[in-house]
Formats: sequence, structure tokens, C-alpha cells
Amino acid sequence: MKNVYEIAQAQLDRACSFLKLDESLQLILSQPKNELIVNFPVLMDNGEYQLFKGYRIQHNNIMGPYKGGIRYHHEVHLDEVKALAAWMTWKCSLMEIPFGGAKGGIKFNPREHSSQEIERITRRFTHALGGNIGPDHDIPAPDMGTNAQTMVWMMDTYMNNAGQGEKNAVRGIVTGKSVTSGGSLGRNKATGQGLVFAVKAWADEFSFDLSEASFSVQGFGNVGYHAAELLSREGSRLKCVMDHTGSIFSAQGIDPVELLKYCKETGGIKGYPKAEEIDRDTFFSTEVDIFIPAALEMQITAETAPMMNVKLVAEGANGPTDLDGEQLLLDRGVMFLPDILANAGGVTVSYFEWLQNRRAEAWDEERVDQRLQLRMTKAYKTMRSLAREHGLDNRTAALAYSVKRIQVVYEERGIFP
Ligand code: NAD
Repeated sequence: MKNVYEIAQAQLDRACSFLKLDESLQLILSQPKNELIVNFPVLMDNGEYQLFKGYRIQHNNIMGPYKGGIRYHHEVHLDEVKALAAWMTWKCSLMEIPFGGAKGGIKFNPREHSSQEIERITRRFTHALGGNIGPDHDIPAPDMGTNAQTMVWMMDTYMNNAGQGEKNAVRGIVTGKSVTSGGSLGRNKATGQGLVFAVKAWADEFSFDLSEASFSVQGFGNVGYHAAELLSREGSRLKCVMDHTGSIFSAQGIDPVELLKYCKETGGIKGYPKAEEIDRDTFFSTEVDIFIPAALEMQITAETAPMMNVKLVAEGANGPTDLDGEQLLLDRGVMFLPDILANAGGVTVSYFEWLQNRRAEAWDEERVDQRLQLRMTKAYKTMRSLAREHGLDNRTAALAYSVKRIQVVYEERGIFP
């Protein structure tokens, strides 16, 4: 089985062979520009020091500053961050956002640390990254295991290292901050919101009634919860949920707001009294119209795809589908909203946040949502028209559009020296 970086490469290969892309450009795009690995010590609550390994991979910045999330997870590794950074480049290009692609992370399990330890880890990591990030150079954001509070700690650390007169000018060093500390309204729900806008565009194209639909979600964090809550508002029924504690099912439908309340009290979905506990196989084999992976990579595989009985996979997570899993479902007529489209709402509203910081503006939520919907719907239509015209699957069409935009800029600028 291929690892996640090899999967990202294979996806790029498909798009490049459709575009008949110049080999040297494919070679350039196949590796990130910069790979930064830092090992840094942090004081633990028990008085001992622990060494942490952090990554920042800057894939490409020809379209604008590097941009991408920071992940805290015990399985973070170089190839994973490289793949995630490349997907950011394609995502920003597809959305026509003037950013490049990057990703970072620290290999540790945040659930095993106090909030004070996570704050010290975050601040020390930001310090270690130093001038390798910057509001016009490389702009981090939240990803798995990180949130608005993490971004505020990063911003504060970075600001305190800037000159006195520049502190407020560097507020845009991160996006996904709390609104009170300079974030944007609508950013917290933006990835789930963008996914639902993309699902609505799909439903419009195929005259599919979302008020009659059922769906499952894997992962009930930032992306999974907001996608579930917003899709439920369209009248769709949430049948199954999986998180790191287990899986649950209810034929009548699960209320995402109530489930979130339960998770906040207990730490996960396990034991939720208004649904029945199911195993992993039942989670994947339960028939639903829409399946939303919103947790880890490589979940839809040759093992799980044959069990699935769905019409649409809307990829909230990055890289949730491997090559075999995708082919098996495509062969059965299942449609994909690929990650670089379906979860692009997060980076799109991050761009809006960055713009607001630069202009010292505060947009209302309606304005944020309207602009997000316009961009999601436009990207969906662009992908679908390319897919229909050339008989491509959606992922290859989305990637081809994105790489084509980058190719034009490389051709205009040439390769230095
Ligand atoms: P999060 O930390 O808020 O939530 C992650 C969820 O995944 C949790 O519910 C957790 O229990 C669950 N999970 C962890 N391990 C699991 C396992 N082995 N099996 C099942 N569930 C498991 O993370 P998030 O920000 O919602 O990110 C989820 C995915 O969405 C990631 O792939 C991330 O890259 C992608 N994404 C996030 C954003 C964003 O704005 N946060 C933007 C684009 C893409």
C-alpha cells in the first residue's frame, strides 16, 4: 500500500498527464521548496523537560505566501506533512486565493497534556520557527488537534518577537484566531460551511433533495461537527458518527448540537445515550446518501470501500481516500467532492481574515458566508465543467485546473536563474 505522500504524487501524476505538463515543472512541483524540522525542549508540569519534533513544510509560493495549518497528533511525520502541504498549494490555486501551500505539525498527542503544557509547546515551537514564518511569507492556521486558542498563542509569541512599532502590523501571522484577538467571524465553522456549500452545489446539479438525505460523519471535531450541524439544518439526517472513542448509529437521526454537548462533558461520542454503539465495519457499511470523512488520512481504502453504500463522498479531511478505495467507489458510480474543493472553506475564510487584518476591517458573518458560498460554488462548477468536458473524475479535474493556473505563472516568470 502506498503512503500518503505517494498517494498525493499519484494524484499529481494523473493531473499532469492529462495536462501533458512539461516534465521539469512536474519535477519542481513534486517536492516542497523547503522542509524545516525543529527539535525543541519544553518544561512539563512535573518539572522535567521533554523534547518535541516539529515540522513546517513550505511546498510552493509562486501564487503568494505559503499558507497551511498546524497539526498536533502523535502520528505526524515528514511524508504526511509534505502531502498536506502540496494539497494546500492545489487547494489555494483551485479557489483562486493568492496563497501558496504549506503545512506544519508537532508529533505529540495533545490529549495527554495539560493546557499549560500545550501553551508552552506552542510558544516554543513558534519561537523555533522564528523568521521562517511571517504574515507576508508563511501563515499558519488550525488543523487537527489545534484551534483558535493555539493560533492566539502563536500570534502572541510572534508579536512579542516583533519590534515595538510592528506588533499590530503582524497580527495576520496566523489565521483561525479567536474573533476577540483579531480573527474573522465565520472562520470557526468555515470548513464545515464550505463543505455544505459544495454539497448544495452538487445537490443542485443532480436535483437531489437534501431534506430527504441521510449522512455519516467520521470525526466530530471542528470540521465534522460544523458540517454535520449545517447539513442537519438543510433537513438531512445524521445516521452515524465515528470519533477516536468509537462509533454510534441512530436510524431516527442524531442531533449534532446535543452530541457536541455530550462530547464536551465526556471527551468523545462513546456512551452517547440517544444512539446505539456500533463497530467500525457497521459504521462503514451503513447505507447513507452522503459520507463525510472528517478525521484522518487513508480511511476509504480497498478494505473499507467495498463495504460502503453511498452516493457521495464529501472529503472534509485531507487525503481520506487512497487510490484503491477511490477507484472501487468510482467504478460503482459514487461521486467525490475531493478534499481540495470540499474542505477549502477553511483556507478561503482564512484569506478573508488575513485581508481584514491587513485593512483593519471587521466583516459581518453574512458577508463572510456570502463570499465563501460564491467561491465554493464557482470552484465546484469549474471542476464539474472540466470533468464533464474531458470525462475526468472530479479530483483529477480539480487538480488539473489548479496546476494549470500555476503552470501559466511559471511560464510567464520563467525559472530563476
Ligand atoms: P479536530 O482535531 O477538530 O477533530 C478531529 C476529529 O477526528 C475528532 O473528533 C477526533 O476524535 C477524530 N479522530 C481522531 N482520530 C480518529 C480515528 N482514528 N478514527 C476516527 N476519528 C478520529 O480536527 P479538524 O480540524 O476537524 O480536522 C479534521 C480533518 O479536516 C483533518 O484531515 C484536517 O486536515 C482537515 N481540515 C481541517 C480544517 C480546519 O479548518 N480545521 C481545514 C481543512 C481541512
